[in-house]
Amino acid sequence: MPTVGKKTCSKCGRSLKETDFFKMKTGERCDLCKDCLTQYIDNRKPETFL
Ligand SMILES: [Zn+2]
Repeated sequence: MPTVGKKTCSKCGRSLKETDFFKMKTGERCDLCKDCLTQYIDNRKPETFL
């Protein structure tokens, strides 16, 4: 059965489940966790990442 991989956020450095990272259109996981990405894109255009 599939296991959930771990990934380290490049911003906060926490090791989180891959599901805590947004999946981009390319199918790759973003380097920032959802928490950091939300803050990061807060002043930008969220639709760029969704
Ligand atoms: Zn983070």
